[in-house]
Amino acid sequence: MPEWFSKSIVDDRTTMLTEPFVHDYVRANIWHLRGRDADLLVDTGMGICPLAPQIETPQGKPLLVVATHIHLDHVGSLHEFAWRAGPKMSAAQFESMDEAATYAYMFHDLEGAVSILPAPGWKAADYKIPSAPLTRTLDEGDVVDLGDRQLRVLHLPGHSPDSIALFDEADGLFFSGDAIYDDTLIDTLPDSDRAAYASTMQRLLDLPIRIGHGGHGPSFDGKRMREIAADYLRRHDDP
Ligand SMILES: [Zn+2]
Repeated sequence: MPEWFSKSIVDDRTTMLTEPFVHDYVRANIWHLRGRDADLLVDTGMGICPLAPQIETPQGKPLLVVATHIHLDHVGSLHEFAWRAGPKMSAAQFESMDEAATYAYMFHDLEGAVSILPAPGWKAADYKIPSAPLTRTLDEGDVVDLGDRQLRVLHLPGHSPDSIALFDEADGLFFSGDAIYDDTLIDTLPDSDRAAYASTMQRLLDLPIRIGHGGHGPSFDGKRMREIAADYLRRHDDP
């Protein structure tokens, strides 16, 4: 079987992993950023194959793992890691991995869920996300500290009520989760809120990012982010 995860080197400190053989609807980006005192992992994919062995960190260096929201394609492998942070708003649901919050049930009968079998006899219908109680909850204004970098938490609801993002105010690095990314934005899930999403987009118009790494799609600069946000707002005002 080919490697389940693909890895791309983004820059000398950043690696992006994804799962090329899962349906593109749930093929999310996983970001590994090397910090001075700790490394950061943003989101953890579907959890179909183990992710932790793919993330190389120097012996003894902490790996801070942040889930941007509780949807299945971001929290599947969260249980594999010791330090698990996620949105305060959905913290209780990380204990049970409540399928009403993760939408794991949507994967069970998704046509073309995977394009190769991860293991003989594997079935999407058996897919289940293990419990991953948060060891730290994150809310607006909190800081995730890597020693040489401080990433501030922004609460950006709309796609989901609990969506958070991480922003390094010092150099404009932005991990946006599914709050904004350069691909089709999803605002029609049972817990999506279009009015909240519009407020999030309005807020993002003024966020001085240098580069954004999203939950899906390619990375984007500030100009592209403002285009995506403005485009959303136009469609929201004039559906
Ligand atoms: Zn999502």
